[in-house]
Amino acid sequence: MTSAPADTPTLDLARALVRAPSPSKRETPAATVLRDAMRNHGFDEAWIDEAGNALGVLRRGEGPTIMLNGHIDTVPTGDEALWPHPPLEGVVADGRLWGRGTSDMKSSLACMVVAAAEVAQRGFSGTILVAGVVQEEIGGLGARWLAEHHEPDLIILGEPSKMQFKLGHRGRIEVDVHLPGQIAHAAKAELGENALYRAARYLEKLEALDLPSGGPLGASTATPTRLRSLPEDGANVVPGEAILTIDYRNLPSDPPEEVLARLAALDLDATLHVSDEHAVSENGEIERHFPRINPAYLAPGENTWTSAVRNALRDILPKHGLPFEEGTWWFATDAPHLASRGAIVLGLGPGEEELAHTTRESVRTDMLEIATATYRDLLLALLPEAS
Ligand SMILES: [Zn+2]
Repeated sequence: MTSAPADTPTLDLARALVRAPSPSKRETPAATVLRDAMRNHGFDEAWIDEAGNALGVLRRGEGPTIMLNGHIDTVPTGDEALWPHPPLEGVVADGRLWGRGTSDMKSSLACMVVAAAEVAQRGFSGTILVAGVVQEEIGGLGARWLAEHHEPDLIILGEPSKMQFKLGHRGRIEVDVHLPGQIAHAAKAELGENALYRAARYLEKLEALDLPSGGPLGASTATPTRLRSLPEDGANVVPGEAILTIDYRNLPSDPPEEVLARLAALDLDATLHVSDEHAVSENGEIERHFPRINPAYLAPGENTWTSAVRNALRDILPKHGLPFEEGTWWFATDAPHLASRGAIVLGLGPGEEELAHTTRESVRTDMLEIATATYRDLLLALLPEAS
């Protein structure tokens, strides 16, 4: 047991954000905390936009616009009794801040706000935009809306990475494969055609599929996650249909059209279905329909911004006691939505990806200070000095 760390502006804000519950579509309490914190930290303006995102801006004349981005929403806490510390109280113990959203990813937003305020105090030229977006966990309405209304040159995305430099991640396609059968009485099964056997044959072919691989993102994967049969309560009925759900993670070189064609070819009588997301903002003002496909994202490795951030981090991270490491995330993020109009999105965050969505979610308090200092030093390295 280590002694409690001193309260710092970052820890204070991270704790306040954890104490404001914000499951997807109910982010207003946390968005309000974030907006008010940006006002208190001297941002020129801070507001909540039509989609419910909390934004704050610091404008200092000529220069690039850098956005620091994170999502405000969290997955639900689940059974609070399973947590070592109550998930919405912001308990600090054993050198960690505990609770839902600590690693994924309210802490990042706290670091970003404090870092941006410190950069403003030291002086810079350009624009810093801090954005806490809504609904990342359920399709990315907040980031999609943000991308339609802002055109930053560079976006730093604070998804958990233990402060490793992240260039992207595979995409995710949720596919339902409908496999036909012929209903019959289970006592006379030969009169029908059992859709579950058809599903079994399909699963064997799926497991044997050779999927695209190569590059920093590794390989595409197809993971069957659910099998249902119809009629649903037909325990004495030969099922007339089986519905297999596949969680497919694709490389950028393995686009959704090709994925669907490959999966369809495993059974020519199968019908594939990608369900639609109907996203609505909490205030009901913004509505979007999109297929349940989160595209893959990989930042260009040798882009001017990528190189500038990489070089700066090689210098900054060791000063704060961390090695420079470059890689990719294993989970999907808002990056493809944020990059949809050409911005480069690069990842760096204090949280630990293994703890995201778990009942052990927490973040090292020393990492919060390291992240704050690193974001600050990175912005100072990337933005021109005050003229
Ligand atoms: Zn996240």
